[in-house]
Amino acid sequence: MSQRRPPSDPEGPKGDSTRSVHGGERDRRLSDAITVPIYQTSTYTFGDSAQVRAYQEGRTTRDEYGRYGNPTWRAVESKLAELEGGDDAVLFASGMCAATTLFLAMLPQGSHLVVTSDCYRRTRQFIRQYLTKLGVETTVIEPADTQKLAEALRPETRLFFTESPTNPYLRVTDVAEAARVCHARGVQVVIDSTFASPINHRALADGADLVIHSATKYLGGHNDLLAGAAVGPADNIKLLRDAVGVLGGVLDAHAAWLLLRGLKTLSLRMARHNENGIRVAAWLEAHPKVRRVCYPGLASHPDHAVAARTMRGFGGVVTFELDADFDATQRFLDAVRIPYIGPSLGGVESLIEMPATMSYWDLSRDERYALGITDSLVRLSLGVEDTDDLIADLEQAIAAA
Ligand SMILES: *Cc1c(COP(=O)(O)O)cnc(C)c1O
Repeated sequence: MSQRRPPSDPEGPKGDSTRSVHGGERDRRLSDAITVPIYQTSTYTFGDSAQVRAYQEGRTTRDEYGRYGNPTWRAVESKLAELEGGDDAVLFASGMCAATTLFLAMLPQGSHLVVTSDCYRRTRQFIRQYLTKLGVETTVIEPADTQKLAEALRPETRLFFTESPTNPYLRVTDVAEAARVCHARGVQVVIDSTFASPINHRALADGADLVIHSATKYLGGHNDLLAGAAVGPADNIKLLRDAVGVLGGVLDAHAAWLLLRGLKTLSLRMARHNENGIRVAAWLEAHPKVRRVCYPGLASHPDHAVAARTMRGFGGVVTFELDADFDATQRFLDAVRIPYIGPSLGGVESLIEMPATMSYWDLSRDERYALGITDSLVRLSLGVEDTDDLIADLEQAIAAA
């Protein structure tokens, strides 16, 4: 079978769409079939004892057991490494699994961690319930505040972990500045780039030591799988790959294949998510019944300057507050016809939710308000539907509320 030049070749193509479609796959096909197969297997066999010895002595590269590797994963991992501009990547069973494995692998007992207040709620819960058992102390700072970051660092600090953009206020960190501050003190920077995707921001190029994703969101893109990923330098990825082999949160081969398929249209989908995001955000901001809109592409956003300088698009999530009370906000959600009511983001189908009744339901109203999660706050994840249809739908729903 003739092989064409893979996109990872320095002489090869560089465009996002070319990498989305071909990255990690061209040199991995087994037959004349155009797609990489699902390797639905739990183990790999050896022809004889000599092959076992050759493998154990590092003289051959091959697979041994399904918790340590799978050829379908490797196609996805190579594609992600190419898209993020990292040496290597590793997959996990979910985005949460990527974060928890990373913390357990990278934080020694008694070390210190800095995270941001907008951090994904389950990540905060893991820090509080499990990392404290290892004597790991955590400082929480305001997102995007590199001054506060510098003040929070201690001699035993090992990691700075933040989402960028964050959920739900879409705060954007100046990753190059955060890396400068952290690296001067021997601290590694990990960016949860789920809301950006490698199409809108490449944190590794800005100096991050690792990028993680909930691949459940934009990378998979079709609301049909859960997966997580980390991308970065070879030594950090080896550490995480060894850790997931022990901790066991590995991705199923079929989900890996769905992710491989979803990734082929990543660049195309992001272009539509970005267009829907900026147009709907601007339309909402001009609407008299909308109190405020959080979207980093708008000049009114506190991190607009950093976002405009470092990002190539601002994504499909728009967070806004209606000029309405709790009941009227629920009526608005119930009147919307195109977006489904539900958590998650980054898929082709638009989703809408009130953080007050979804991720923050377990908090009292006072606790919610302290976090800025008001009764009229709405998070809209725009899919790839036509912008005009989405705007017309939001218009009739606001009128109906
Ligand atoms: C969804 C999400 C996660 C968790 O990922 P799962 O795939 O649901 O485990 C982590 N971080 C961010 C920013 C997310 O949006």
